[in-house]
Amino acid sequence: MTMIDSEDPRFARALALADASGSWLKLRDQAGHCIAVGIPSSKPGLHYRVTRTTCECEDQQRHPHLTCKHRLALAIALARKAAEPMPASVVIDGLSRILSSRKPIYSTNFRED
Ligand SMILES: [Zn+2]
Repeated sequence: MTMIDSEDPRFARALALADASGSWLKLRDQAGHCIAVGIPSSKPGLHYRVTRTTCECEDQQRHPHLTCKHRLALAIALARKAAEPMPASVVIDGLSRILSSRKPIYSTNFRED
């Protein structure tokens, strides 16, 4: 788990990076799962490959015991995404799938003898 220290100057820079998370590169495995993101470096044209626990930037290499701004930005972006409400269509599809797999409790077919 990444601890966030709002007194750390990396935090403000991480917030700015997280605000631009829509422009990050997504690195996917063959199954299509996102395994890392490419966060732009302050050097134009460069991206750092970042996961929850690793980053290729100089700051992370120099201070491996600390969390660099890129890893902080990823933690912030993931926390924001987890807090987003699910679209109604996803909820309805999920409920429909659950209901279709259940056996009916009662029958609506009435027969008069
Ligand atoms: Zn970094």
